[in-house]
Amino acid sequence: MAKKQQYSGTCFFCNQEFSKRGMGKHLQACKARKASMEKLDQKKKKVFYQLVAEDAYSRYYWLHLEMEGNTSLEKLDSYLRSIWLECCHHLSDFLEPGRGGSEIPMNKKISSVFSPGMYLTHIYDWGTSSETNIRCTGIRKGAAMTRHPVLLMARNNMPEHICVECKKPAPFFCWECIREFGAWEPLCETCVKDHECFEDRQPGEIVNSPRMGMCGYDGPAEPPY
Ligand SMILES: [Zn+2]
Ligand SMILES: [Zn+2]
Ligand SMILES: [Zn+2]
Ligand SMILES: [Zn+2]
Repeated sequence: MAKKQQYSGTCFFCNQEFSKRGMGKHLQACKARKASMEKLDQKKKKVFYQLVAEDAYSRYYWLHLEMEGNTSLEKLDSYLRSIWLECCHHLSDFLEPGRGGSEIPMNKKISSVFSPGMYLTHIYDWGTSSETNIRCTGIRKGAAMTRHPVLLMARNNMPEHICVECKKPAPFFCWECIREFGAWEPLCETCVKDHECFEDRQPGEIVNSPRMGMCGYDGPAEPPY
């Protein structure tokens, strides 16, 4: 698979695919998104924040989210845990940009920490850390498009992993190879059967999350709603 495609993702209003770079622009123009906004009762005006969450180290993983301004950061934290991060209930924090930034309390409202162009960092697990950058790309005034605290507007497509032995698509990886040698070893259906490490621990299943292979993370990397 070409590099360009690996960074691409899907718009959940129209189900079309766009490049990572093009998705923000697309969401502004998406006809299906506009149509579903027009159906809403626009008298119920609230302020919504468009946020892009991106793994700090692996550029394959990104989410376009929308949240109402009165929602607390805690709701964003639980969303990130559900879709990407949760392994064993580690501590997490929002920080002013960068790992050394000062902590932002979880009860802060989205409207009090974000404005367009502003970003912050989310850390999940201070041991084997997952680090997510969250950037505000715009705001909208109008009615809610979901009754949930977070609306998932777009997401990266599942990156394709290739078997280290035979180059076929790989749905599995080896935990032991990571633990022993720090090696990311994707394996296909066939080669996973011959892999030598699997006496103690079953192979891991590859999912659409930047936390794969870290601590005890084993998915499912599905949105909570
Ligand atoms: Zn669209
Ligand atoms: Zn863990
Ligand atoms: Zn193979
Ligand atoms: Zn192995």
